Amino acid sequence: MKEPCQFYEGCPLFKFFETSDREVFIKIYCKGDFTDCERRARRMAGLDVPERMLPSGNMLEAIVPQASANDDTVQMVF
Ligand code: SF4
Repeated sequence: MKEPCQFYEGCPLFKFFETSDREVFIKIYCKGDFTDCERRARRMAGLDVPERMLPSGNMLEAIVPQASANDDTVQMVF
C-alpha cells in the first residue's frame, strides 16, 4: 500500500469537511497523487499555506461562497 502524504497527520484542511467529502479528496490527493497538491508543494517549498487552501490551490471560500470563518464544516465542494 502506498504511503500517504507526509503531511497527512494533522493536515488542517480536514476539519472543514464532512467525513464523506473528506474521504474523496483524501483518496484523490492525500493517499493518491499527493504530488498534485498545491498545499504540499507550498509546504515543501517553505512557503506559507493558507489554512483554507484546497489541494487545487483554490481557496475554500472561492468555490463555496457561504463558507465563513465561523463554519466548522462545509459539504460537497468537489
Ligand atoms: S491536503 Fe495536501 S498537504 Fe494535506 S495531507 Fe492531503 S496531500 Fe498532504
